Amino acid sequence: MPPPPSTESLSAAERNLRVQVAIAARSLSIGGHDDFNQGQVSARIPGSNRFLIKAAVTGFEECTPEDLVVASTDPSAPPHRLAPPELVLHQAVYQARPDVNAVVHSHAAYTLVFGATDLELRAVSHDGAMFEGRLPRYTLTSNTILDLPVAESVAKALGDAPAALLRNHGGVVVGKSLRHATVLAHLLERACRLQLLAEQVPGGYHSSSGDDVDAKRAFNFADLSVRSYWDFCAGQVARRWPDTAFWKPVRSVKQPI
Ligand SMILES: [Zn+2]
Repeated sequence: MPPPPSTESLSAAERNLRVQVAIAARSLSIGGHDDFNQGQVSARIPGSNRFLIKAAVTGFEECTPEDLVVASTDPSAPPHRLAPPELVLHQAVYQARPDVNAVVHSHAAYTLVFGATDLELRAVSHDGAMFEGRLPRYTLTSNTILDLPVAESVAKALGDAPAALLRNHGGVVVGKSLRHATVLAHLLERACRLQLLAEQVPGGYHSSSGDDVDAKRAFNFADLSVRSYWDFCAGQVARRWPDTAFWKPVRSVKQPI
């Protein structure tokens, strides 16, 4: 295994983003998104046409700031030797969605099972309110996304939605920030889990009204709320893996105490 690329020469902004993406990966692991070393989280490097993405051979559960590679949003650019095979999926989404600054693709169990059904997601819980009526299901192939035309068709299916189900494969969740994409990935997995549970109950179940869905989107998923959920996730990562506290952003290190 070749040594990880040195991070000493990185800009402070990129180093800080690396720390956040690695925290996001660990948080996704806690949320049940591990499937060996498969799945990816990525985030645009602000002010550039590049993004950071978890390397191919690293799982969410073991990811560190050094286990990320830099990729171009341009699919014609030569990829890093450790770029994941599904890099094109992220490139296609970034090309199609200028509003998206982070992407999570995983094979999370409940998201995957829900995607295998023909159920429409309902607002069984707060989580489901985020996705009701805006969770397309991609059904053209269930294979790994390895080539650009397929990746572009996934991006087309995603449209302007916050997430898409990939039938018999997993899910794609996007966000205007890394915080949003990570939190929404947790929400989607929980929404799918709770609805699959409700579907087992004899006699059916109720879901939130349209007015309540709107109200929940306005309050439960407001930027301030998403930030607080992210802070909880980051705290959870720190409690689970105390060594991650040494992933100090450059900005903090340089600041006088
Ligand atoms: Zn996949």
